[in-house]
Order: sequence, then C-alpha cells, then structure tokens
Amino acid sequence: CGIVGYIGRRKAYPVLIDGLRRLEYRGYDSAGVALINEKGELNVYKSVGKVADLERETEGKDVSGHVGIAHTRWATHGEPSTANAHPHCSCHGNLALVHNGIIENYATLKEKLCAKGYVFKSNTDTEVLVQLIDYIQTHGAPDLLTAVQLALREVVGAYAIAVIDRNRPDEIVAARKSSPLVVGIGEGEYFLASDATPMVSYINKVVYLKDGEIAVLRAGEILKIVDLNNVECAHEAQTVAMN
Ligand code: GLU
Repeated sequence: CGIVGYIGRRKAYPVLIDGLRRLEYRGYDSAGVALINEKGELNVYKSVGKVADLERETEGKDVSGHVGIAHTRWATHGEPSTANAHPHCSCHGNLALVHNGIIENYATLKEKLCAKGYVFKSNTDTEVLVQLIDYIQTHGAPDLLTAVQLALREVVGAYAIAVIDRNRPDEIVAARKSSPLVVGIGEGEYFLASDATPMVSYINKVVYLKDGEIAVLRAGEILKIVDLNNVECAHEAQTVAMN
C-alpha cells in the first residue's frame, strides 16, 4: 500500500506511475490515479491488480495535467475491486482522495452522511473521509485545508491521506497520523509519497511529516505545515541521497 502525489511543471502522470512502481514492494491488490487537466476536469482511473493493469486501463484516455495523486491499496474494508480502489471521489465530483490506514469510526460517520443525502459508491472506510470533507466544504469551510482539518478532527484511526480539488488545481493537501508520509521539495514543485523512494530520482530535499501534521503543497510557494488546530509546525528539510 502506498501514496504518491505530484504538483509542479512536469507531467504528473509519468511521475505518479513511476512512483507507484517504486512502492510496489510494499504489497497491494489494486491501484489508481487522479489527475486534474488544464480544463479543470478531474480524471480518475482505477484497476484491480498491478500498476501495469492500471496503465492498460488508462491507454487512450486523458492522463494530462500537472497535479495528481495515486495509490496502491491493501484492502482492509471492502473486497479488492475497482469500486473500492482509491482514489475515492466526493459525490459532488470535485474532490479525489487517497488513503492508507483505517478509519475506525467510519460506520458512525457514514450513517450521518447518508442521513444528509450522501450516496456511497464503495464499501471502504476511506470513502467516508472524502464525503465528510465535501460536506464540511459545502457548509461554509473557507478552503480545502480547513475542511480537511475539521474532518480529521472527527476521525478516529490511522491515516496518511492526500486530497485534490478540481476547483483548486494549484494545491494538494496531505496529512498523516500513524502512517508514513514524506514531502519532496523541488524547484517550484512538490512530490509526496509514503517513503522517499518515488522521489529520489528527481530531488534530494525531503520533509518527513510527523503525526498530526497537515501539509499544503502549492507549486512555486513555500511549504506550509500546520496541525489540526491550524497551528504552524516548524519543519526542517533533510537531504537524501539521489539515485
Ligand atoms: N482502509 C482503506 C481501504 O481498505 C485503505 C487501505 C490501504 O491502506 O491501502 O480501502
């Protein structure tokens, strides 16, 4: 199971696929990718099986865009299937989210969201999180970061997540608790992954996120890391060997 993300001037798709390959050693049963293209459309592709199967799935499809997130899944809630593979989208279609870990109180949250009219497409614990972020976002949260912070305050469990919003193609919001997540810092670009291996052929500066931290990655802007209460977290980039 693994997460990869990219935002910057490069084409995101090859970076994401290459990154998923480098995380294959962690084990997985399905894979998926979400990209926002130049028109602001969110394209999501998923497949059961290997990264090669995902590549076959995207053949002839629009994989353009300079921002995206990708995932290899090790199913914990819901069988390995295309519907249960990540990224998961909010039912309004704006958000895509990948998650490693387990949302322990997903059943309670799902019940509440269903009562508010949310329709679920998968049997995963993860989908609850993207729908909850959507709900908070459409009920007054001023930005994606705030919506993610408020959602995570309701969540019990372990997670590394990355979220993109087709209405905000200039950012990725990522967070972790008890599941690893690393930000790679390039020249006006950011990488994101479960460990540094997907990014070391591009950059050598990384920040290992700590539990409870949320990172906002915007191409060309400095890295912002805050906690669930929006308190700024000091961070220091480490140098890793490139290969
Ligand atoms: N619990 C989530 C699921 O079953 C994420 C699993 C993972 O870490 O890959 O979909």
